[in-house]
Amino acid sequence: MKLLTVTFILLAVIVVGAGEALVSESLVLVGPISRDGLAMLERDWPLSIDDYDGSFATCYTFQDKLELLDSMPWGCVVLVEDLQAHYAEQRAMAFIGDKDEPWNTLHTYDETMTLLQTWADTYPSIARIVDVGTSVEGRHLRCIVISDNVDTEEYEPEVRVIGTIHGNEEIANEVVLYLTERLLTDYGMVSAVTELVDGMEIWLQPLVNPDGYVISRRSNANYVDLNRNLSYQWDSSDGELHPFSQPETRALADYSGGDEQYVPDDVEDNTFVLGLTHHSGAVCLNYVWNYQYTDAADKAHIWHNLCQDYSDGCEDSSYYSNLDDGWGNYGDGYQNYDYMDAICEGAEWYPTNGDVNDWSYGERGCIDTTTELSDGQYGSFPEGDIIDFCDANYHGQMAYLEYADDGLHGTAKDTAGVPVLCTITVNDPTHSPMRTEAFMYNDPTVIGDYWLPLDDRTYDVTFSADGYIPQTFEGVVVTGETTTPIDVVFEAGSGVGDLTLSAHQTSDGVLLSWEISTDFVAFNLYRDNGRGNSVGERLNPFRLDGGAACYLDANPNAPISRYRIEAITPEGHREIYGPVEVKLDEYGEPLLVGLYPNPVVSELTLELNSSGSDYRISLYDVAGRLVDNLYAGTLTEGRHSLSFDLTTHSAGVYLLRVESGVESENIRLVITQ
Ligand SMILES: [Zn+2]
Repeated sequence: MKLLTVTFILLAVIVVGAGEALVSESLVLVGPISRDGLAMLERDWPLSIDDYDGSFATCYTFQDKLELLDSMPWGCVVLVEDLQAHYAEQRAMAFIGDKDEPWNTLHTYDETMTLLQTWADTYPSIARIVDVGTSVEGRHLRCIVISDNVDTEEYEPEVRVIGTIHGNEEIANEVVLYLTERLLTDYGMVSAVTELVDGMEIWLQPLVNPDGYVISRRSNANYVDLNRNLSYQWDSSDGELHPFSQPETRALADYSGGDEQYVPDDVEDNTFVLGLTHHSGAVCLNYVWNYQYTDAADKAHIWHNLCQDYSDGCEDSSYYSNLDDGWGNYGDGYQNYDYMDAICEGAEWYPTNGDVNDWSYGERGCIDTTTELSDGQYGSFPEGDIIDFCDANYHGQMAYLEYADDGLHGTAKDTAGVPVLCTITVNDPTHSPMRTEAFMYNDPTVIGDYWLPLDDRTYDVTFSADGYIPQTFEGVVVTGETTTPIDVVFEAGSGVGDLTLSAHQTSDGVLLSWEISTDFVAFNLYRDNGRGNSVGERLNPFRLDGGAACYLDANPNAPISRYRIEAITPEGHREIYGPVEVKLDEYGEPLLVGLYPNPVVSELTLELNSSGSDYRISLYDVAGRLVDNLYAGTLTEGRHSLSFDLTTHSAGVYLLRVESGVESENIRLVITQ
């Protein structure tokens, strides 16, 4: 017995020791690699793309994954093997300004938290703190909210600005802190600031990834790239079993009004209209989409107005105009990719899945844009420049955020004055024959207000809500912030026609079907809640015998895909039906609930929720070739734990596929020896 006790204690010591060992990040250069290759790079290999110059991709990985990259079909050079040591060295050599001089040095995590609290205490009428959660290691996830009457929900748009989500992109924190200070100290003195604070509710979260920030690491404490961990078009390239697996992304989605699987409801909800997500490592602005090359419905407005004005705001400052590769000419090297003044669609630069921009726009109807603030960061920002740099971006951010109340706005309530959650579609009839420009929810709070940033044009606008008669307003003239509000009063009832949209999952995607009747002459089908997420504008559905139509969505949104149909009457009125929701795992829980260890040396254990059907579990190599059939058979309904011996397989990156007749899941598996 004594021997056993000793062994137990030794084991415990070893486990604690292993838990504390920190695996450093490494920076690698992969290439030459084509854009097609780029789409596979992050999905199939244990790394996260940070930059792409048209032939080489700069990527983050971890020291213990470097060996695995040897078998990549592209060249791979290790730029910095131990980034955490590299950063520490650079910091020691960096210019140290006068610490007493504000904005001369980077704020630490503790200083950042204290500063936010101090500001809220100093300006209680226009600022308050909302702690939205805690990080993996228990640090504060802290927002500061700025608005006049900051404790009251008012008729005004809500906007969100977030800083360091990649922990080593430290300047993002400073840019948000500096904006916060200007908003608070210039309130009542600078008219642009006073207008913004009076007219909006501004949520600022300087540190989204505090655990990464304290050790200058891109990922969080669980080694997950948080900007790949949100649900919209998420895939398992972040190495996780499901989206929102991290407390940092769950907290962000929680206060941003997310109500999906895995997201708690611990803090107040917001319906953000505009957002900015700050990064560094390049100088450019990325607008949606990041996961696909198809244009977002609002592309023209985002590109030519919001992003251009951000860029112009920065260019007015001496900081960027003195830079050789600053705003304005940075994009010259990217002409093939439709860059204009270093403003480009995210996916055109390099595609990613599960990022903040796509989730905000696709799931919440919020136009969220990535800024890449500064070239060559990696912990080496010249500290003496911080104030000029932050000041330049202060002007850019102000110019961008001012668009939140430029466009369509008003309230949507029922006849008793109770706010109604509704869908708003905006259509510019001059686009032939019809094209939906925007599609979003209102803010179902006590106010029931909605805000849609739109270009100055004339639109037809339709408001729809379940159980109410839809309303269309034709010829609505949008003139920036002077647009006349439309206050909608919904009457109970249904529309002209009757339509039931049904959706169910098949092995090829989600099959949607509805009846064709003489009530309607045309249909538009949409995936998701967000703006312009059309499955296909002016869709011509395949008509079945018996007056029904169907459409197969081969690219549904996991884990939940929602659909609406816009039906047009012979008089040209629009009615919205839906949403119908399909959980891609129809049993509510993910198919795969556990897979460990990963990387694996010999025995792999897999836990899954069976729906009681036949399952096949197979191992593929990264080229998609079948390597091993691990399991084929029936599993009774409920939780199962299966173990496999993988010692016969050589070290490398594999794809583990679990499939049944109705569902499947692919997980990247790393075998080491
Ligand atoms: Zn970043």
